[in-house]
Amino acid sequence: MFELPEMVVLSRQMNEVLTGKEIRKGSLGNSPHKFVWYNRTHEEFEALTRGKRVGEASSRGRWLFLALDPGYVFVLGECGGKALYHPQGAKEPAKYHCYLGFADGSFLTVTTQMWGAMELYQNGEECQRQYIRGMRPFPTQAEFTLDYFSGLVDECSRLEKRSAKGLLTQEQLIPGLGNAIAQDILFRARLHPRHPIDALDAGQVRDLYEAVLGTVNEVIDKGGRYDEVDLHNRPGGYIRLMDKNAVGQPCPRCGAPVSAIQYLGGSCYFCPGCQK
Ligand SMILES: [Zn+2]
Repeated sequence: MFELPEMVVLSRQMNEVLTGKEIRKGSLGNSPHKFVWYNRTHEEFEALTRGKRVGEASSRGRWLFLALDPGYVFVLGECGGKALYHPQGAKEPAKYHCYLGFADGSFLTVTTQMWGAMELYQNGEECQRQYIRGMRPFPTQAEFTLDYFSGLVDECSRLEKRSAKGLLTQEQLIPGLGNAIAQDILFRARLHPRHPIDALDAGQVRDLYEAVLGTVNEVIDKGGRYDEVDLHNRPGGYIRLMDKNAVGQPCPRCGAPVSAIQYLGGSCYFCPGCQK
């Protein structure tokens, strides 16, 4: 799944190569997939994208917005898989769930492995969509300060029992984070995935906040995680510290063997030596 850093990287790359291109033909998938969320019929999508020009790309959390001027925005969200740019003359992939072909012969395809939104809105309407409307501050925004984060931890502690992994991965409390990046954040913050957040002291809250920002920024700087590809089909340069390849290997900090548990809808990888 693309998480916040991958969406930042994709939107930056779209701004480098797609801006100003005129759409000759837009189409939805050539391969039916029941977990792709479309909001237009094939005919509508084609008619509404034809002749539009690509404007700015931006991202918020796990959502990416590509302006199609005048008047529309293509929205890609909660998505995993591949969003690929193909130069003129490249061969079309056998399967895709969305396609934008440009007047210069280049094209963009999006293919998801699991699910994801590939939607087209009139400017502004996308802000009313579920998950985008009312989105909380996310880690690359100026509003995501230590004060804000401490308040979020307090608010979540009052409502129900919640663990550190739950804070990072549930209900988009911190939009854009997912299971993959959460593992490395918890490792950096030296917190066990099950650590209850109402038991965090002020120093641990600050460490967790710094781990969130440090990890997110490092993944962005390295072009995304190694297990995802960018707009040019190149894997990212960020090697995850805590993933399935780390199980049984010595922890890079304390040397204890890395463990795995099943917890909150997925595998958790952590070091029992230094994540208490
Ligand atoms: Zn360790």
